[in-house]
Amino acid sequence: MAQFDHIIVGGGVLGASIAYHLVRENAGSILLLERNTLASAASSKAAGLMLQVSTNTTKTALIRQTRDMVDILADELGEDVGFHKVGSLRLAASDKRISELDDMAADAANNDIPFEWMTPRDAGDLVPWLDVSSLRKVGFLPTDGYVDPYLLSMAYARAAAARGVEIRQQTAVTDIRAANGRVIGVDTANGPIDSESVIDAAGAWAAVLSAQMGYLLPMAPVRSHYWITKSDPAYGGDHPVTIMPDAGAYARPDVGAVLLGIQERHSATFDARELPGDLATFSPTVGEEHWDRLAEAAEGVGQFFPGIADAQFANYIAGLSAYTPDGKIILGPVPGLSGFLAAAGCCGSGISLSAGIGSAIADLALHRTPGVDISAFGANRFGSVDPFSTEFRECCATARANKSRNLV
Ligand SMILES: Cc1cc2nc3c(=O)[nH]c(=O)nc-3n(C[C@H](O)[C@H](O)[C@H](O)COP(=O)(O)OP(=O)(O)OC[C@H]3O[C@@H](n4cnc5c(N)ncnc54)[C@H](O)[C@@H]3O)c2cc1C
Repeated sequence: MAQFDHIIVGGGVLGASIAYHLVRENAGSILLLERNTLASAASSKAAGLMLQVSTNTTKTALIRQTRDMVDILADELGEDVGFHKVGSLRLAASDKRISELDDMAADAANNDIPFEWMTPRDAGDLVPWLDVSSLRKVGFLPTDGYVDPYLLSMAYARAAAARGVEIRQQTAVTDIRAANGRVIGVDTANGPIDSESVIDAAGAWAAVLSAQMGYLLPMAPVRSHYWITKSDPAYGGDHPVTIMPDAGAYARPDVGAVLLGIQERHSATFDARELPGDLATFSPTVGEEHWDRLAEAAEGVGQFFPGIADAQFANYIAGLSAYTPDGKIILGPVPGLSGFLAAAGCCGSGISLSAGIGSAIADLALHRTPGVDISAFGANRFGSVDPFSTEFRECCATARANKSRNLV
C-alpha cells in the first residue's frame, strides 16, 4: 500500500500552501489530494484582497506572511503570481470607524507594516470615482493590494510540485482511517493510502470530512459575492483597494473596471452535507435576485461611490466562504484523533491568510511550536456544536454580517 509522511486533503489555496510549506521544511514524502481540479472551489472565486490589518488583530501576523510570500514565490518560480501592490485606503466617516482606524494604525506599527494618514483630498486624487465629502479620516497602507487568487493557489501548487510534492487531482478522499486514537491514513476511490499525518484542508466540506472521525468542526459555508462594472476610463487605472466600512463595502480595480463587494447584513448559509462535491454548477443565490442585494446596499455605498447609481455592472461572482461564529479561523489539531490537523473556517480571508496558515500547519505537523500565536484558533473553543444545524449556521451568518460592518 502507498505510504506518505503527510497527506493533505483539499487542493485549494490552503492545501497548496500547506504542501509548499511542508516541502520547504524537508518534511519527507507529501501527497496532496483534490477530488476535482486544483483551486476549482472558493479559491478561484475570491476578490483576492490582501489587507494586512483589520479590526481582527489575530490575523495580522498570518496575513503579513502571505504578503511576504507573494514576492518569495515570484522569485522562486521566476514569474508573476498576480499580486498588484496598489495599496489600500481605509475610509472613516463616523466616530466608530475613526476609532477602529486608530486601532489599526497601532496594529500596523506593532507589526512593522507601513501605514500613513492621508487627507481626503489626496485619497480622492488616487481614486477618481470616490466622493470624499463625508470622509473624516483616511488611512493608507502602501504595501497592501490584491492578488489573482487562482494564480496564487497555482503558484503554491507548482512550487510545491517542483520541490517534490505529489499532487493527485480527481481523487476524492472517502474516509479517514484511524486506529488506537491516531490517524493511519485515508481511503480514496482508488484505494487506501497510509499516513500518520493527515491535514483537513477541505474548504466548505472540512466539517463533513472531520465528521467521518466523529468530530464536527465548528464552521459553516456562508455566501460571499461581488459585482464588476464594465471597463470605463473614468474609473481610473490601478487605484488602491478602497475599504468603506461605514457602508459594509469594498472596491478594487479590475482591468479598467471596478469590482464592488457588498457584505450583506444577512447572508445565505448552507448545510455542508448537502453541497455538491463540485460547485461548478452551484449558485448560492438560487431563489433570490442578486440585483436586489446590490440595490439594498446602493444608498450606503453611494455616499462614497455616487456613480453606483449609473454604473453598468457586467459580472456577478458568488461563492462560499466557511465561517465560524466568532469570525476567527480554525487552525490546529482536530480533537480526539492524534495526527489529524485542520486548516479551515477562513471567514472570507483564506487567500490573504494562506502563507501564515501553511507555515503554522507545517510546524504543527512537524511537532514544532508555530512562530505565530495560534491559541485563538482552537477547534474546541465553542464546545460541542452541530455545524449543520440552522441555529449554528445563523451564528456564522452573523459573524459574516459583523465582518461586513468591520471588514474583519
Ligand atoms: C466571493 C468570494 C470573495 C472572497 N474574497 C476574498 C478576499 O478578497 N480575500 C481573501 O483572503 N479571501 C477571500 N475569499 C475567501 C477565500 O476564497 C477562501 O477563504 C479560500 O479560498 C479558502 O481556501 P480553501 O483551500 O480552504 O478552500 P477551497 O478553495 O474551497 O478548497 C477546498 C478544496 O477541497 C476539496 N475537497 C473537499 N473535500 C474533499 C475530499 N473529500 N477529497 C478531496 N478533495 C476534497 C474541494 O474540491 C476544494 O477544491 C472570498 C471568497 C468568496 C467566495
